[in-house]
Amino acid sequence: MTFLVDSHCHLARLSLEGKAAANIDEIVERARRCGVSHFLSIACTTKDFEQNRLIADSYNNIYLGCGIHPLDVRHEPDWKDADLRNNLLSSDKVIAVGETGLDYHYSPETKDLQIASFVRHVGIAKDVKKPLIIHAREAKDDTLAVLRTENACDVGGVIHCFTDTLEMARACLDLGFYISFTGIATFKSSENIREVIQFVPLDRMMVETDCPYLAPIPVRGEENEPAFVRYTLRKIAELKNVTEMELARITSENFEKLYGVNLSESATKAMGIEISDYKIDKIMDTEFCN
Ligand SMILES: [Zn+2]
Ligand SMILES: [Zn+2]
Repeated sequence: MTFLVDSHCHLARLSLEGKAAANIDEIVERARRCGVSHFLSIACTTKDFEQNRLIADSYNNIYLGCGIHPLDVRHEPDWKDADLRNNLLSSDKVIAVGETGLDYHYSPETKDLQIASFVRHVGIAKDVKKPLIIHAREAKDDTLAVLRTENACDVGGVIHCFTDTLEMARACLDLGFYISFTGIATFKSSENIREVIQFVPLDRMMVETDCPYLAPIPVRGEENEPAFVRYTLRKIAELKNVTEMELARITSENFEKLYGVNLSESATKAMGIEISDYKIDKIMDTEFCN
């Protein structure tokens, strides 16, 4: 059975901002009509987690990640390990720790705060035995140093929205991490990312929107949403010389392996259909989806 997962989105931000105002049903339905069967919605602050949890409560096919984003540590410098641990253990739907990591592009002045937070997230991930979602921007050396010294490979995880070098990709793969790509892969100027995509083995990659940010071509400039993950899927399939269906299948299997979930089970409940009736190739073939 083939599924398509938007492996990193911020649904609470979508439902609160922009054109999609408060209509998560429509967003989920538009995604379903484009073959997207599952979502991993990421919380970046404690409050964001509460909002994401309210959304996920109504859907069996929305999973959650929970952490303090490196760019949010300055807004929530006093976050408590116990609170994060409780949130992570609050439901089976919470399958990942993060996003966490380091971003020196937008906030180099909070470097020390970010490193301390990242280290704590790795420790908590090992405690609760859930994989990490890593955000790394212009912080290659420090990111790798934390992953290595804190033995992050014990729980593994994914480097999301990968925008770094081939050398960084190789180091992350060597540490056992998956690498996930956004709509940036479709941008004209992203030749370096496309080189990385050609290098990363199929069984170690994922696709994501990171919506509401980073809408891919041909919808660049619009508010991004999970339905648009198909454009990134299409571009990567082309680069890897596989069909979109094949790439959807492989990236979904990677998702199941990393997060230890069974997509068929939650799909049956979520979509109210017999799994044998779910035909992603038919869905992706419709005019709506092109
Ligand atoms: Zn991120
Ligand atoms: Zn994100």
